[in-house]
Amino acid sequence: MHLQNKVAIITGAASGIGKEIAVEFAREGAKVVIADLALDAATATAAEITASGGTAMAVAMNVTDEAQVDAGVAAVVAAYGTVDVLISNAGIQIISAIVELKYEDWKRLMAIHADGAFLTTRACMRAMIASGKGGSIIYMGSVHSHEASPLKAPYVTAKHGLIGLAKVVAKEGAKDNIRANVICPGFVRTPLVEKQIPEQAKSLGISEAEVIKNVMLKDTVDGEFTTVADVAETAIFLAGFPSNALTGQSITVSHGWHMQ
Ligand code: NAD
Repeated sequence: MHLQNKVAIITGAASGIGKEIAVEFAREGAKVVIADLALDAATATAAEITASGGTAMAVAMNVTDEAQVDAGVAAVVAAYGTVDVLISNAGIQIISAIVELKYEDWKRLMAIHADGAFLTTRACMRAMIASGKGGSIIYMGSVHSHEASPLKAPYVTAKHGLIGLAKVVAKEGAKDNIRANVICPGFVRTPLVEKQIPEQAKSLGISEAEVIKNVMLKDTVDGEFTTVADVAETAIFLAGFPSNALTGQSITVSHGWHMQ
C-alpha cells in the first residue's frame, strides 16, 4: 500500500485515465475523490470503488468554475480532513486546423486545461499549506506537452503550459513541502481518443486504421497504445514519492514516442 490514507482529488475521474487512477489509488489505500462534471457519473465511479472495498467520495466539479472548485475542495477537507494529492486530469480534445478553429472552441479548451489546472492547484495548495503537511500535485500533460501535431493547436498550447505551471508550483510550493510534476502519456484508447479517430480520418482524408498506424502510433518504438494502467502506475509512483527531490519534472509514458 503505497498511498495508505492519502487523500487524493482526481479531476475528470468518471472516465478514462482519471477513473483508472482513482481505482488504482484506492487499491493502494488512498481515499479518493472523484471530481467530475456530472454528479451521477462521479457517484457511480465512487460507488464502484466503495463496492470493491475502497474509500471514495464523489464531488460535482466543473474545473472552470471557481466557486465549484473552491467548494469541492472545501467539501473534501470537511469529509477527509486534508488534501494530500491533486491529479489535475480533466480534459477534452478539439480537432481542427487553426484557420478553421472557432475562437469559442479555443477558449473552451484553454478554460478546461489551463484555467482548470490553475483553479484546482490554487485551492489544493491552500489546503496543503493549511494542513502543514504539503502534498503532491500531478498534472495530466501529454506527449503534446513537448511535441506538436497538426489540428491540435489549443491542446498543444495548453499541454505545453502545464509544464510551466508545474515548474512554478515546484518553486513556490517547496517551502511548504508541495511537489508538482507532469505525466505525459502517448495515445491511450479512452473515449477522448475514440472520438478523434474518425475526426482525424475525415480532416486528413485517410482511413481510421491509417490514423491509428500512421498518425497516432507512428513514432512509438513498437506500434502499441499506452494504457490507462501504465499512466496510473506512473501516478502512484509520483504521488508516493517522499521528498522534494522529484519536483518540477515531466515523465513521458508513450512507448518511446518523443524521447527526451
Ligand atoms: P476521457 O474523455 O475519457 O475523460 C475525461 C473526463 O474529464 C471525463 O470524465 C469528463 O467528464 C471530464 N471533464 C471534461 N470537462 C470537464 C470539466 N470542465 N470539469 C471537470 N471534468 C471535466 O479522457 P481521457 O483520455 O481519460 O483524458 C484525461 C486526461 O488525459 C486529459 O487531460 C487528456 O488531455 C489527457 N491525455 C489523454 C491521452 C489519451 O490518449 N487518451 C493522452 C495524453 C493525455
